[in-house]
Amino acid sequence: MSCPVIEIYCDKCGSKIKHMITIKPLKDVLRITKYRCTSCGIGLNPLDFSIDLEKLS
Ligand SMILES: [Zn+2]
Repeated sequence: MSCPVIEIYCDKCGSKIKHMITIKPLKDVLRITKYRCTSCGIGLNPLDFSIDLEKLS
């Protein structure tokens, strides 16, 4: 049995910011990183994110 994994990537540098297995409001997730990319430090707006769903086989 597999569960969906949510991965959040920085749009600027492409690094993976956060990885979670439960769906949380994006603003709650980004609050942990102080609304910044942990890699390049760019400010992130939760409203700017788009969601791509990928089915992993
Ligand atoms: Zn970044």
